[in-house]
Amino acid sequence: MELIRLENVCKSYRRCNLEIPVLQGVSLMVARGELVALVGVSGSGKSTLMNILGCLDRPTSGRYWLDGQEISSASADERAVLRNTKIGFVFQNFNLLARTSALNNARMPLDYSPAHPSDTDSSRHAEKMLHLIGLADRMDHEPAALSGGQQQRVAIARSLINRPSLLLADEPTGNLDSRTTEDVLRMLQRLNEVEGLTIIIVTHDENVARHAQRIIRMKDGVIVDEGPPAQSQRAPGGETASLLPPPGAQSHAGASQLKDTARAARTALRGLRRNVMRAALACLGIIIGTAAVIAMMELGGGSSRSIEQSIASLGASMIQIDPADVSVAGVSSGRGGRATLTMEDAEALRSECGVLQNVAPSVDCWGQVTYGNRNWRVGRILGATPDYLAVRNWPVAEGEPFTMDDVRGSAAVCLIGRTVADKLFGAESPLGKEIHLRGVGLKVVGILGRKGANVMGQDQDDFLVAPLTTIKFRVTGQRQATQSAVASFSTGSANTRSQVYPSQQSPLYPPQSSSLATDTPQLVRFSDLDDVWVAAGSPQNIPLAIRQITAVLRDRHHIQGGAPDDFKIRDHTEIAQTFAATSQVMTNLLLVVALISLIVGGVGIMNIMLVSVTERTREIGIRMAVGARARDILRQFLIEAVVLCLTGGVVGILLGRGVSVAITALLHWPTLPSLPAIIASVAVAVTVGIIFGYYPAWKASRLDPIEALRYE
Ligand code: ADP
Ligand code: MG
Repeated sequence: MELIRLENVCKSYRRCNLEIPVLQGVSLMVARGELVALVGVSGSGKSTLMNILGCLDRPTSGRYWLDGQEISSASADERAVLRNTKIGFVFQNFNLLARTSALNNARMPLDYSPAHPSDTDSSRHAEKMLHLIGLADRMDHEPAALSGGQQQRVAIARSLINRPSLLLADEPTGNLDSRTTEDVLRMLQRLNEVEGLTIIIVTHDENVARHAQRIIRMKDGVIVDEGPPAQSQRAPGGETASLLPPPGAQSHAGASQLKDTARAARTALRGLRRNVMRAALACLGIIIGTAAVIAMMELGGGSSRSIEQSIASLGASMIQIDPADVSVAGVSSGRGGRATLTMEDAEALRSECGVLQNVAPSVDCWGQVTYGNRNWRVGRILGATPDYLAVRNWPVAEGEPFTMDDVRGSAAVCLIGRTVADKLFGAESPLGKEIHLRGVGLKVVGILGRKGANVMGQDQDDFLVAPLTTIKFRVTGQRQATQSAVASFSTGSANTRSQVYPSQQSPLYPPQSSSLATDTPQLVRFSDLDDVWVAAGSPQNIPLAIRQITAVLRDRHHIQGGAPDDFKIRDHTEIAQTFAATSQVMTNLLLVVALISLIVGGVGIMNIMLVSVTERTREIGIRMAVGARARDILRQFLIEAVVLCLTGGVVGILLGRGVSVAITALLHWPTLPSLPAIIASVAVAVTVGIIFGYYPAWKASRLDPIEALRYE
């Protein structure tokens, strides 16, 4: 039965626009189980013919059947599968993969086998094969550490590992001494006799040819003679035991894609390990890019969070109601020119606006605070109710807050901020000490927690708060008294606190006690407030709260349809939004810069991969010769690029985290680790690897096997 049939096969090479005919009409038939020697002087076209027989090269014209299948019309992938399953090729110059162990060299065809043997099966099979071929103690040697004969035997093991039906050996003994030649020839002969392997040996050595059943002689690209050798040196038969180990267990092709990818990943990793330094340099761009992205994102996140926090410390859901200037007949009275916000307004807001959680009226005060021989001009002094601390979400760090009872009784107590405490008391504890504000003694009952600077940069801890009535009656009472003297004169009525702040409407604030009335006999027109602070619960409630406040106050102040409000409502959402938008713009800008560096890093990867493909052209040729298809090569190089980028990405993430930790430690800038940024960086690194690795990988996969093998 015939295995090979060639019909009028021609092959010519083009050189400088000149057709050089190498094979000029070769017709040949080789039966299954034959051992044929192909002899001829150097340059007669033997290797060219072998390459065509081995499906590495295509004839220019003519037809070739292998095992009944027409080859000249087969696609590149079909030929790769044929090379892998039906043909074993032993090259004149071995063509082993450098810096790869004998074992891995021998098992390489199994890596591309359509039967998808498992990894352990492949290795075990290759071990058996090397054992058989007498290299049991050289499995992990690389070709450079093997003698010529040993390399040749590894090459033979590789060619036999897939149990091909055709073995092509191009001058297999050309580089060997006579004893090794004899060994190799005897082995081939036994394979032919015991296994029924069809073998074609190219040789220029008549002694070698004598081992064959048939000798084909070539000259100038044509077959000039064929026939049995003059004196046959066929070794006597006898041994019939199978020489080759049985093929390893074959798995189903089910998970083949996954397996192929895992195998390609292993091959890629081996490839990278061989050149760690270059891989590291190739990654550098990606490392720097990713580190920049991570550090930027963490810094940006940290700064927006600190802005958020400082806005929240103002009270994110806080609304401040000021008495506005009112114009009477076109004349503005200026801010605070008229008392438009009253205690009754505050009480009405508390009872009528459902959305408000806390309502805190307050009055302002300015002045020097003294303690012993120290004094300090406090940035902000407020008279307020305990609700003020709730609205501002401001805890008392030491001591106790003052109570509603203190407000009712105008108690001479106060809470001070951290800055005031430091300025007046230094290391001393302020609790229980009496300080003086405008000559009025106030006992410090508590110290407020530290709030730091607000978004305007003002120190919020430079602060003193006392009960509203204390500030009103005792501290600023004098001023009120003077004003009220004028007022009472003009209205002609004697004002009392109970008159303008009636007890029946507001039982929280009882009428002035007689002793207090004695202390400040002229206290009048107590009604005006400088601010009302309210908490809307959450920032989302703010618009509704503003609507309710406006409705209640306009109604109470009898403001007609089109007339302007006589109060001003301020909240901090606008500030928050402005800052958020600003920091977003900054973060985005930095991200663009970081992304550009990632692209630059990607170009670096592409550059290295292109160099690597060129440098490894021979490796690609060898892999293709043993049956790797274009997509196997593509996958291998693509995975290499992705692994490079991914490694770069991971190192970059660690570096970026390190940078942000260092920045926090050294510069005390706030940073915020960001999981989305890390995930995004990994995704971008992989994408960069695929995008920039694709072209080099594609270029590698498009190589012609015989061209790649010839590449020097
Ligand atoms: P052999 O193996 O019999 O020594 P080859 O088949 O290698 O001979 O080469 C036969 C002829 O073809 C030689 O003259 C050689 O110069 C030519 N040849 C081989 N390969 C190429 C090529 N890639 N390009 C041009 N000429 C080639
Ligand atoms: Mg040759």
